[in-house]
Amino acid sequence: MAKTKKFPEQHQKPPGMEFKMHPQPEIIRPDYKGSEKLKGKTALITGGDSGIGRSIAVHFASEGANVAIVYLNEDKDALETQKMITALGKDCYLIKGDLKKEAFCKKSIEKAVAKFGSLNIIVNNAAFQMPENTIEHISKKQLEETFETNIYPFFFMVKEALPHLKKGDTIINTSSVTAYRGSDHLLDYSSTKGAIVTFTRSLATMLAKKGIRVNAVAPGPIWTPLIVSTFKKLKDFGSDTPMGRAGQPSEIGPAYVFLASKDSSYITGQVLHINGGEIVGG
Ligand code: NAD
Ligand code: MG
Repeated sequence: MAKTKKFPEQHQKPPGMEFKMHPQPEIIRPDYKGSEKLKGKTALITGGDSGIGRSIAVHFASEGANVAIVYLNEDKDALETQKMITALGKDCYLIKGDLKKEAFCKKSIEKAVAKFGSLNIIVNNAAFQMPENTIEHISKKQLEETFETNIYPFFFMVKEALPHLKKGDTIINTSSVTAYRGSDHLLDYSSTKGAIVTFTRSLATMLAKKGIRVNAVAPGPIWTPLIVSTFKKLKDFGSDTPMGRAGQPSEIGPAYVFLASKDSSYITGQVLHINGGEIVGG
């Protein structure tokens, strides 16, 4: 599964539905064994219904955490993630709504705290993209959609979560390889991913004295609903990476475990690059 080199053409409308994808993304390696790295912790993951977010949620649960996942409207995918987590003996609390709305972000944090009594890990991972080949085609409406989905909620969520976070707790943000190498067809999206890198560095510096660490992950091409709902040509997706293939969510989730756990206790303000070998700065 993880070595798939060619994908069948398929198309969906955003947000994509994982249950309709073929082949199905690999969420966690069948031989992955948790070792209580997040025992007793509570995590909130935006976009946790599918793709990379689902992988993070399942890995966190495998490591002993309870999770709340925030998603737009993909009920079937969210219920499937919940099922996977329940099977691991952990709780998965579903929160449905639009992160562009500050009031909803506030409510999401309140609900997660009310449900679990604490919050230790915030993963800002939800995103929107719509490829356009020229800047003239990027309307103000699209620009707003991209920035209001991909970066504004990071501020809203952290603002609301901060009073609940303690020394040792962590914030992890999903950026993208496009922040580093640019993208001629994702100008607005890649700009938000660059903003996420700077947000991560600045927030890490701001919160270091409180003992709250802030890091990011910059994935390369990963087989998820975002891809099948926004790209027209999928057959060779990821084949231009040095490793010659796309990645699976199962190859991303473990990095979030590392950044959320004590294993990364001296790391803050950094970005992990998981992209099949593309050498990028920072
Ligand atoms: P995905 O479609 O599975 O996840 C994105 C999720 O964001 C969706 O499940 C959706 O519920 C949520 N979302 C979107 N808009 C929302 C809104 N307004 N309110 C609430 N939730 C909203 O796709 P994915 O590829 O797993 O994406 C996860 C992250 O990974 C994103 O930040 C994406 O930019 C990043 N990323 C993905 C790739 C890739 O190749 N798949 C590469 C680099 C970075
Ligand atoms: Mg989804």
